Amino acid sequence: MVFRILLLLFIVISISFTYSAVTGDVCAIIASSISDASQVFRPGSSQYALDLEHFALSAEQNSSCSVEPGSAQDVSTILQILGNTRTKFAVIKSGGHDLNPKFSSTPGVQISMARFNQLQFDAQASTVEVGSGMIWDDVYEQLQAYNVSVVGARTTGIGIGGYIVAGGGYSYKTNQHGLASDNVVAMEVVLPDGEIKTVVGSRLVDRDLFFALRGGGNNFGVVTKFTLKTYPQTEVWGRSIIYSGTEFASVSAAVLNYTSNNKDIKTGIQCTFATLQGQDIIMANLFYDAPAPAPGIFDSFLLIPSISSDIGARSYLSLIQSANTNLTAGVRGIYNTISHTAVTMNLVESMQNQSSFYGSMLQSNSLLLNGYVIEPFLPEAYHHGDTDTAYPPNRNENIHPMNIYYAWTSESSDSIMLDAARQTAASLQQIASSNGILASAKYPNYAIFGTPIGDLYGENADRLHHIKNLVDPFNVMGLTGGFKFE
Ligand SMILES: Cc1cc2nc3c(=O)[nH]c(=O)nc-3n(C[C@H](O)[C@H](O)[C@H](O)COP(=O)(O)OP(=O)(O)OC[C@H]3O[C@@H](n4cnc5c(N)ncnc54)[C@H](O)[C@@H]3O)c2cc1C
Repeated sequence: MVFRILLLLFIVISISFTYSAVTGDVCAIIASSISDASQVFRPGSSQYALDLEHFALSAEQNSSCSVEPGSAQDVSTILQILGNTRTKFAVIKSGGHDLNPKFSSTPGVQISMARFNQLQFDAQASTVEVGSGMIWDDVYEQLQAYNVSVVGARTTGIGIGGYIVAGGGYSYKTNQHGLASDNVVAMEVVLPDGEIKTVVGSRLVDRDLFFALRGGGNNFGVVTKFTLKTYPQTEVWGRSIIYSGTEFASVSAAVLNYTSNNKDIKTGIQCTFATLQGQDIIMANLFYDAPAPAPGIFDSFLLIPSISSDIGARSYLSLIQSANTNLTAGVRGIYNTISHTAVTMNLVESMQNQSSFYGSMLQSNSLLLNGYVIEPFLPEAYHHGDTDTAYPPNRNENIHPMNIYYAWTSESSDSIMLDAARQTAASLQQIASSNGILASAKYPNYAIFGTPIGDLYGENADRLHHIKNLVDPFNVMGLTGGFKFE
């Protein structure tokens, strides 16, 4: 017994010694082991700065170095080095839009997928192969030439990698075609032991990995390529209307009218109740997948007097790129969420009240903006996939994910804002529960760090644990940040 304890102690001491002694050298080991397609960047270089850049400043950290692998083989080499040296905090970054600190940043080795930026359209199969380091804007732009598009993000700058792998991806086309993850046909992935594998959705033998990689987070390897379904794309109609907070009664009535009556799967809306520098404002994002909406469908929004309106027929790319989300890029930020199964006036009023309450309370703590986004989907949204996915765990529940966003400037306010984001979600959760509309699973891409795995994956959590243990017995992916199955 004493011998065992001494042995364990010896192992722990040697691992921590190896870790601290080796961190700096790992960058050199990687640099000398990868091919010319890939490169390591050191602090001070402009590429290093780009590789570390995130949407939210609070999600960034300085790393020992960054590495841009240019081939799946080099991702494999890098993962093996990191695993063997137990170099902690090696993290993957695709679009860098995860707001949770340490989920895609690290003091160790920052892996940037930026060189996985190739796109190949297959007109016959109606699919496109895309590199996991691309942002959705690039995919939409390159597919314009073929008059097709894919199910992807609703705003500019979002990475394909995190959007699909870390949550599944809600889109303006979700009512029509499901989550982005429902539209994945195959993936190329580097497993935690370095094996490069093509996982095909229609192959029974790949079923577990295909399930886990779509929404289960970065726990099962590094995805290098996705094959996605494409759909014919015409011009679309929509974008944003901004109203004064004084129009709350009309806008909330319009939201309820839409959620009660709309059955048209070509629609998508997001309605944000926000406080911007102390002022209550409301923003409606409207979408219709044709150059003009079906008559009357959005009239209740269009008839309300607005501060500004940017609605009209345009390309899908233009719709995505004219989103005003980059107004808060580069400041500090956090998301949190609850999920609900229906929209009640009580819930909408509570969102507005929470926004106003915290908006005025946190003014002196450098709050720029808080936003409470209602994102209603039709039940059809959850019945498009051919195979099951890590998220959502229950497709018979009509989940509406609510996005709660706080943006602020001062680092000294971090803990205040994180507390507020947690408290406000808890209050809304209680209200949804008392209204009988609380859904069982939270959307992982909106959930704040520390959210229990069971709250995200429900009855899928055990299966995901099991797959994780099979695929990654040495817990290489545990060296990265993110929601973990450990
Ligand atoms: C302004 C804004 C708008 C948004 N709009 C939407 C929206 O319309 N719909 C929606 O569903 N979500 C939306 N989100 C949430 C978004 O989907 C998540 O933040 C998502 O994780 C971002 O992906 P990324 O690749 O940019 O992030 P990153 O920060 O690069 O990565 C996020 C996570 O995924 C992991 N990861 C990244 N690439 C890979 C890979 N290749 N293999 C394995 N793991 C990987 C990372 O390690 C990290 O844990 C939005 C977020 C922001 C900030």
